[in-house]
Amino acid sequence: MGVSAHTGTSPMGGAVLILLYILIAAVPMIVASFLAVTHENAVYELGRNFALIGFMVLILQVFPASRLKWIERPFGLDIVLRFHRNMGIFALLLLLAHPLLLSAGLGSAGLLIGIKVPWYIWLGRLTLVLLLANVLLSTYQTSLKFRFEKWRAVHDILSPLILVFAFVHSFTAGQDLRNPFLQGVWAAALLAAVVLFVYHRIVRPMILKSHPYRVIEVRPEASDVWTIKLAPPEGRKIEEYLPGQFHFITFYRDRSLPVEEHHWTISSPPSQGEYVSSTIKALGDFTSTMGETKTGDVAAVHGAFGRFSYLFHPEERDLVFVAGGIGITPLMSMIRYMHDVRDARNVVLFYGNQKEDQIVFRDELSNIESEGYPSLKVVHVISSPEKEWTGETGYVDREKIRKHCGDNLQGKAFYLCGPAGMLEAVASALKGMGVADRQIRTEIFSFLD
Ligand SMILES: Cc1cc2nc3c(=O)[nH]c(=O)nc-3n(C[C@H](O)[C@H](O)[C@H](O)COP(=O)(O)OP(=O)(O)OC[C@H]3O[C@@H](n4cnc5c(N)ncnc54)[C@H](O)[C@@H]3O)c2cc1C
Repeated sequence: MGVSAHTGTSPMGGAVLILLYILIAAVPMIVASFLAVTHENAVYELGRNFALIGFMVLILQVFPASRLKWIERPFGLDIVLRFHRNMGIFALLLLLAHPLLLSAGLGSAGLLIGIKVPWYIWLGRLTLVLLLANVLLSTYQTSLKFRFEKWRAVHDILSPLILVFAFVHSFTAGQDLRNPFLQGVWAAALLAAVVLFVYHRIVRPMILKSHPYRVIEVRPEASDVWTIKLAPPEGRKIEEYLPGQFHFITFYRDRSLPVEEHHWTISSPPSQGEYVSSTIKALGDFTSTMGETKTGDVAAVHGAFGRFSYLFHPEERDLVFVAGGIGITPLMSMIRYMHDVRDARNVVLFYGNQKEDQIVFRDELSNIESEGYPSLKVVHVISSPEKEWTGETGYVDREKIRKHCGDNLQGKAFYLCGPAGMLEAVASALKGMGVADRQIRTEIFSFLD
């Protein structure tokens, strides 16, 4: 199966998207400045401009959130979703400053605290409260212990509501929006956002569900870890992906098991064209039900995403992989792919687990190591070993890296995937050993950290 189409993104693509974003966000402000509808004073003008940019940033929020491949590919979905979150905070700050600056410019606090103000000012206030709640819930979802599925339901209601309210408020209150050109821009922006939102949250999931993948095998791999193999719909091919990428899966299993969309790495290699697999560890309430999945169950699959693949840097011949626990999955997909395509590059794999029985793919790794493609050296590191364990103990650290990779780390590329604490510790050890940032690539199994 071909994988080349995926790697062909030039850095220019990302730069063009960023420029386009800035341009679209700034267009209404630039046009309004030329039209110069109001000339109160500089503070007032600033407050107006903050609202014009803030509204456009809110509209643009739908684009990074919609998993559009042409937006995701140059950056990776993790970066795109972090951008989405940070721009939500940015829009909130602009829109909170908007009434403050208008009031300062007018020399009156009526807009802020007046009771007898027109209905559209009350609507503006309500919009700000909803936006504040939406941003706070999204930023502190984990610390507030708000379940992901609940948060997503709330986010899906609040976000379009905020857009529509902000539209109505600005359309009725904003003097600039008496201009037909700006009215057209405003209406087109809202329409684009609503159409994209409906496509992302309703239409695409329905399309994916109408052509489901079939579970063809559920294999227990280690304690609380299962590999689920999925075959594509009859007559269709598996969507192209790179080893190391991930996809979203929604399992439809009946038997009153929950239906939720989750993201998992594709642990199979793209050279395997018959099926895709994900290897899933029970880490929470949903993943604890994975063992109840049965052959014949169906699933909607949406992929593939991510930039954690050595194929984005094919010229690098010396790779060091560091996996912690279930973080082995993207690295395993890459190793399997190298094995299938007879790629003899050098790979040292440090695989950290607490206990020996948590090691996933142990036999397969050992077979690939002895067969020679890639030229693989596997170093298991166990932090709480039994007495019989003769391998490395403790954590992946400077000393073990030096022992198995040598003193000269220049020219090596490092791929780290595992718990956040492990990634930080290993990355900082590597930097202390003179490895440049750009040689260290990490995959975090959460978009929220
Ligand atoms: C790029 C990427 C690749 C991953 N690959 C693997 C893999 O190969 N194998 C594996 O076992 N795990 C993988 N994960 C982690 C996996 O997605 C989570 O373990 C799983 O979603 C947790 O679900 P839960 O409901 O059982 O756990 P919970 O304890 O309910 O959730 C734990 C956390 O997971 C996140 N989460 C939960 N539900 C969702 C959702 N529907 N969408 C987005 N985030 C959610 C939230 O941050 C939540 O706080 C990956 C994660 C990412 C980001």
